[in-house]
Amino acid sequence: KWVSVQSLIQSVIKTMEDQIREKEMTLDLNIPEDFQIEVDPDRFRQIFINLLSNAITYTSPGGKVMVAAWNKQDHWVLKVADTGIGIPPEDLPRIFERFYRVDKARARASGGTGLGLAIVKHLVEVHDGKIHVESEVGKGTTFTLTFERKQPETEEK
Ligand code: ATP
Ligand code: MG
Repeated sequence: KWVSVQSLIQSVIKTMEDQIREKEMTLDLNIPEDFQIEVDPDRFRQIFINLLSNAITYTSPGGKVMVAAWNKQDHWVLKVADTGIGIPPEDLPRIFERFYRVDKARARASGGTGLGLAIVKHLVEVHDGKIHVESEVGKGTTFTLTFERKQPETEEK
């Protein structure tokens, strides 16, 4: 099934509107309309539920979340970035591990399980994609996803 990534991400953001408003966060969305991908929409949606809920959880009130996508040769590049607390360099290599959380005390207070990113990585790979993270403590975190660019066959007229 061909899915519009723009409307899929918009539908995820809709479910998070209240949190975004309560934390007075800014959200920047820049996804080309022709970004389509052949996926299981529910599994693909889970990637953005997990990444965006992290971006909101680990960013202080007044912060910013950005989602943008563009073409690069035969790939789609998609970034989910925030101006949040960041991840220390020594923890970065482990954040995709199941149950790994950076700060146990802080993480417990925010009540997750540490599975979100392990699921994200799995689902990105299921869709033949790659995921990469960059972060700076106190500045923010950027997840970069790349997917092979395929297009639905356009119908002969
Ligand atoms: P859950 O299973 O509910 O998602 P979680 O958010 O703790 O729990 P992950 O989503 O796998 O688990 O993230 C693992 C850890 O990586 C988090 O506990 C947090 O410390 C760190 N982390 C993830 N995303 C961000 C982010 N955008 N900014 C800062 N730290 C992050
Ligand atoms: Mg999470």
